[in-house]
Amino acid sequence: TAFVSIMRGCNNMCSFCVVPFTRGRERSRDAASIIKECTDLFNDGFREVTLLGQNVDSYQWMDPQNHTIISFAKLMEMVALISPDLRVRFSTSHPKDITDDVLFTMKKYDNICKYIHLPVQSGSTRILQMMNRTYTREWYIAKVDRIREILPGCGLSTDSITGFCSETEEDHQQTLSLFEYCEYDLAYMYFYSERPGTLAERRFEDDVPEEVKKRRLQEIVALHRIHSLKSMQRELGTIAKVLIEGDSKKSKEHWQGRSDHNKVVVFPKTGNLKKGDYADVFIESCTAGTLIGKCK
Ligand code: SF4
Repeated sequence: TAFVSIMRGCNNMCSFCVVPFTRGRERSRDAASIIKECTDLFNDGFREVTLLGQNVDSYQWMDPQNHTIISFAKLMEMVALISPDLRVRFSTSHPKDITDDVLFTMKKYDNICKYIHLPVQSGSTRILQMMNRTYTREWYIAKVDRIREILPGCGLSTDSITGFCSETEEDHQQTLSLFEYCEYDLAYMYFYSERPGTLAERRFEDDVPEEVKKRRLQEIVALHRIHSLKSMQRELGTIAKVLIEGDSKKSKEHWQGRSDHNKVVVFPKTGNLKKGDYADVFIESCTAGTLIGKCK
């Protein structure tokens, strides 16, 4: 598996973030050079590429030959067409920018993984405005609904920041209820920690006491644990297409890989399978972080 950077910098100005100051304005990379890099990786034996950018949905490149704009959806399609044996993932999407075009392109190609990382940060529209995220709670929920309509069963993950400046119990409850609605498969949850040089540092007071931030974070983590276990249990009895990444961490007698939905799958070694092969694995049991099965 490999990571391929498709753009640098970011044009958004989320008030908690240093990226706009440290990495500068958004610049998209030449599409032809991305396709060449992905093709070379495939020819060298790589079987999965993750297209990386701070905000991949705003990728844009002017094709110099026919003067057409290559959008992120188009770029993803071009990468998917390199080979059906090359898996394509991407990160990160911004809720204000992800388009139906991207979702329909994901649907069209089996080798584009059905998994989207869609950072929400907060479930409160008031806090989202202070964070300068440029979407509301309702907008975010509508995006999640659209993803589930076009791509039923698509894996969904998020980032959240608890205890941002002036966050009240009511704002926090809004985040909990949004987590309840979205039932994320995976979440990266943090409490707010002021970063020097950010807009938030200049504009707002970091006024939520640390013990309150930590307690709220624990509540979100506890809720998410229930959802992530449910998400693993939903896979029981299904067949996952797993890209073998190597030996399982616990046993050399088992392979470890990832499913289309980005879940870790472990199964006993059989036949002539090797690292980089795909295996259809029947999922028999699970822990909170791993699916366990056997080769079909
Ligand atoms: Fe850009 Fe992400 Fe930072 Fe917002 S949080 S400014 S989208 S890099």
